[in-house]
Amino acid sequence: MVGKMPIPSYVVLRELRKLHLRRFQEPIDEELRGWNWDRPPLRPRTYLGLSVSEVASYCPTKRDTWLRRVAKVPSEGNETLKIGLLVHELIHETIKRVRKYLAVNENPLDVYRDVVEEVVGATEIPECIKDWAIRLVKHIAIQLIAEASWSSVGDGVNPWLSWISEVRVDGSLLGLSKNLRVDALTGSNIVVDFKLSKPYENHKLMITAYAMALEANLEVPVDYGLIIYINGVGNSLNIKAEPLYISSYLRKDFIDARDEVIDMILSEREPPKATSCNPACPFKSYCGVA
Ligand code: SF4
Repeated sequence: MVGKMPIPSYVVLRELRKLHLRRFQEPIDEELRGWNWDRPPLRPRTYLGLSVSEVASYCPTKRDTWLRRVAKVPSEGNETLKIGLLVHELIHETIKRVRKYLAVNENPLDVYRDVVEEVVGATEIPECIKDWAIRLVKHIAIQLIAEASWSSVGDGVNPWLSWISEVRVDGSLLGLSKNLRVDALTGSNIVVDFKLSKPYENHKLMITAYAMALEANLEVPVDYGLIIYINGVGNSLNIKAEPLYISSYLRKDFIDARDEVIDMILSEREPPKATSCNPACPFKSYCGVA
């Protein structure tokens, strides 16, 4: 669906400007473009339909991927994962409804009221995060309506007008799943990922995987990513955007991580338990981690 940026455009544009110089100084190696999926080093040894989180795992030894793929251990749901899904749903529903109402030119204040009422009413939100979640929905609605309001009266093109959210991408050309879901893609081909955590190194690999899968499908360059961190769940809402140049280094790191996971699955070799585990790992009870 088409919507707009839930953070001010000027903030994102200011950050992205810093990346242009990096791209100029370190151009992307053409053989690492997603559209070269049919030859090394992009062509995978085999096609296992890996999810992005299996390749860019939160587990330092990738034991979670081994447990799921080789030992066939079912993952356990937990509160953190449930809240993550819920917040993604709230964001996408808010964007979808704002767009729907703005398309029929309703009064912005009516749009705001109706969207907030509908999204909050249609979603089961646990009491402990309800105030926080409502604040998030209100913030996104206000932000989107303000940008739309400016683009209806101001000069120039609003860069986020053609933002597409919940983009389905076929990652199978790179050995990934056929059903990857990218949080958003802007009209200028910036891939966007929402995260409800502090920054982790694997987030960069995840967004690189999406960018390369998009390149494989669309045959156009996807050079930049934007990770939007939404934090303070249950307390004060905090949103930060981290722009990222999808450099040759990151692309090589993604290919290495993918090939390492493929080798691990084919060899069935059991990785050791990690010494430091992600608190939200859904295999904690299986690994005996408190
Ligand atoms: S509990 Fe720790 S060792 Fe086990 S899969 Fe999760 S992160 Fe890895």
